[in-house]
Amino acid sequence: MGSAKPSLFGILGYPLSTTWSPAIHEAGFSACGLDHRYLPLPVPPTRLKRSLEAFALLGVKGFNVTVPHKEAIVPLLTSASPLVRTLGAANTVLARPRGWHGENTDVAGFVTSLWRHEKALTGKPAVVLGSGGAARAVVYALLRHLEMSAVLVVSRKVSKARELARWAGSLVPGTAVAGAALSDTRSWRGAFREAVLVVQATPVGMGGSGRIVPPSFKFSKRQVACDLVYGARTDFLVRAKRDGARAKDGSGMLLAQAALAFELFTGKSYPWQAVQQELKRRGA
Ligand code: NAP
Repeated sequence: MGSAKPSLFGILGYPLSTTWSPAIHEAGFSACGLDHRYLPLPVPPTRLKRSLEAFALLGVKGFNVTVPHKEAIVPLLTSASPLVRTLGAANTVLARPRGWHGENTDVAGFVTSLWRHEKALTGKPAVVLGSGGAARAVVYALLRHLEMSAVLVVSRKVSKARELARWAGSLVPGTAVAGAALSDTRSWRGAFREAVLVVQATPVGMGGSGRIVPPSFKFSKRQVACDLVYGARTDFLVRAKRDGARAKDGSGMLLAQAALAFELFTGKSYPWQAVQQELKRRGA
């Protein structure tokens, strides 16, 4: 039995069909001897505002935020960290006496997941597929933390890719950031070939099906290919591995951002070793 009062946490998203967050956080609570609970909180976009009122009434102490609410939740918060204000996206929300406070641990989680490759990436070009909340956090990390030389954002809607590129260009003036349309393969084939890092930041491949990189494109041995989707054998990862690139799924980022959120929720470091031992004890 833990000493802290049992509290309620969760993950807010929709439809939340695959989420590892409850397992990660509950294993952490248990290893720290805390009686907290962490639940899936599936809420459709039309109910987002009312759900915050309901969470406050229920005494929810904090929650993570995933697709599709990371950006939509920001105007509903009472306060937010400077990073949340810059990105316009929050993935961690804490109950404060005055109301809900937003934080973003995605940027640090993404950077942590690439720690082995940091040196190889600095000063080199990257391609990011997608222009949603995760792509925004990734582009911010590439420019501000990994100091990459150029980023091409490739998205279904070229207007969204260009809007993200304009915003990113203003973060680090002088960096080459541009947008391209996913369907106009000629406009990004060259950048894909030159990139040392390709990040897949769309939900494509989540259910194990779907393809985003055109069949005629080849990854290369000098590339790190990073799919933010986790727990699925995506076409992106299968082909990246087959072509000899260093392929990484989204589980490293997921764990790193969750560990930082855990610290914000509990004031304790995420108990990695204890969790691993517990999983081993359970035969996982
Ligand atoms: P989001 O804000 O909804 O953005 C999704 C992006 O993907 C948009 O650019 C969207 O384009 C694009 N997209 C959606 N379906 C597509 C399709 N069939 N073909 C091409 N593009 C498509 O979502 P998000 O928060 O950025 O999350 C994106 C993915 O990253 C999700 O799978 C999420 O689970 C994953 N993620 C993982 C982690 C982790 O820790 N591993 C962290 C954050 C996010 P339109 O604008 O044209 O719709």
